[in-house]
Amino acid sequence: MRTKLPVSYRRMSKEERAQYHREWRKRNRDSHRPKAREYVRAYVKRLHAAVFALLGEQCVRCGFSDKRALQIDHICGGGSQEHNSLHTEGIMRKILNMSHPENQYQILCANCNWIKKDERNENRPRFEERYRYAGGF
Ligand SMILES: [Zn+2]
Repeated sequence: MRTKLPVSYRRMSKEERAQYHREWRKRNRDSHRPKAREYVRAYVKRLHAAVFALLGEQCVRCGFSDKRALQIDHICGGGSQEHNSLHTEGIMRKILNMSHPENQYQILCANCNWIKKDERNENRPRFEERYRYAGGF
């Protein structure tokens, strides 16, 4: 259902409009949330499809092609730092805006990605940190 905008909407500042929309979302939470969630899911699905179309739809090492286990790999490492700042969605958007993403990113299956991390010794510090917190080792 479409609600009418208040008459003063056009005179609102950017902050007031943001506040108005926050309140609108709160009032219409039950109908708005599922739609918003669905929209975001469909958007992320489209992003995924576009990235796979660009970088290939299978693992570059072994050829595995079940998309449920395919991951975007940072060829030169540094993926977790980038993931912390941009998140998956931001990384995919970045890839789609780059002129030569194939120089920095590739598609790997989950197994090959872990094996690559192990070969490059990228797992070590994180595991050691985790076990230290757990009180082991
Ligand atoms: Zn693989």
